[in-house]
Amino acid sequence: AKAAGGHLVTYSAELDERAEAAERLGADLRHSLEDGDFHVVYQPIVDLRDGRTVAVEALVRWTHPVRGFVSPAAFIPVAEDNGLIVELGEWIMRAACRQLADWRRDLGGAAPGYISVNVSARQLSEPGFPAVVAAVLAENGLEPRALLVEVTETAIFGGGVAIEAVEALHAAGVRIALDDFGTGHSSLGLLRTVPVDVLKVDKSFVDEITGSSGRAVIVDALIHVSNGLGLSAVAEGVETAGQADYLRSLGYQYGQGYFFGRPVPDPGFTASLTESRR
Ligand code: C2E
Ligand code: MG
Ligand code: MG
Ligand code: MG
Repeated sequence: AKAAGGHLVTYSAELDERAEAAERLGADLRHSLEDGDFHVVYQPIVDLRDGRTVAVEALVRWTHPVRGFVSPAAFIPVAEDNGLIVELGEWIMRAACRQLADWRRDLGGAAPGYISVNVSARQLSEPGFPAVVAAVLAENGLEPRALLVEVTETAIFGGGVAIEAVEALHAAGVRIALDDFGTGHSSLGLLRTVPVDVLKVDKSFVDEITGSSGRAVIVDALIHVSNGLGLSAVAEGVETAGQADYLRSLGYQYGQGYFFGRPVPDPGFTASLTESRR
């Protein structure tokens, strides 16, 4: 199986190498979960009318023992493939909920109103997932509305167990956001069949505002969809004052992005909240 094409041989060797690299990364993830190499950072979600932080999104960070920072975009898919996302995701959920409880204790009324946590398809398909979420909320003395679960269209597109989990969470009072809205297996029909509370409009559409076309057709359309269905819309990846102004003029109430604040660990986050209170 070699003579015919050096090309094919190289290709399959490359595939092997890639599979091996993913396997190694997966094993490293497992060790890191035991060794405490993960932490969670928090990014503000603000009210565009007054810049007040109304909520925070929890985002996981991994410090690889040798490679240092590895992006979630690189390791989350690996953790999904080898199943570790179930355990890692529960750890993230617990860390985020404990953090919100701590903020409430330390900051009172200045604490963010809720915490937004990303959940992958693999977690939703785990039969006990809604019960785990209920337990984590109870452990931390949080009401279900204190949590917003972010899922992607792709994660729930196939229907089945993942949608059932979303329905169970929603029935328990946990709110649901569709993340990166407009980039997945988009179907507006999904908004009628799945209980959704929040649309997170993807950064790529927000980027159009300052892009060369000078128009932002999709952000404009999506605020109408969102309002028409009685959902709230959060514009993701807001990087400039101009984008924030434009979104506000279209009727967006909430935004998230580097312009308002980067994801930071707890101490920095608490400091920024205390500052904006003054
Ligand atoms: P996401 O949930 O859509 O999160 C938003 C991503 O955009 C984050 O990247 C955030 O740091 C980045 N971001 C926020 N504002 C801006 C901005 O103004 N400009 C730019 N260029 N980027 C901005 P991050 O933390 O690298 O996460 C990437 C993706 O990895 C997330 O996208 C999410 O899909 C996944 N992810 C991150 N943390 C978790 C987690 O705890 N669990 C799961 N299942 N997935 C996670
Ligand atoms: Mg998200
Ligand atoms: Mg997003
Ligand atoms: Mg996004």
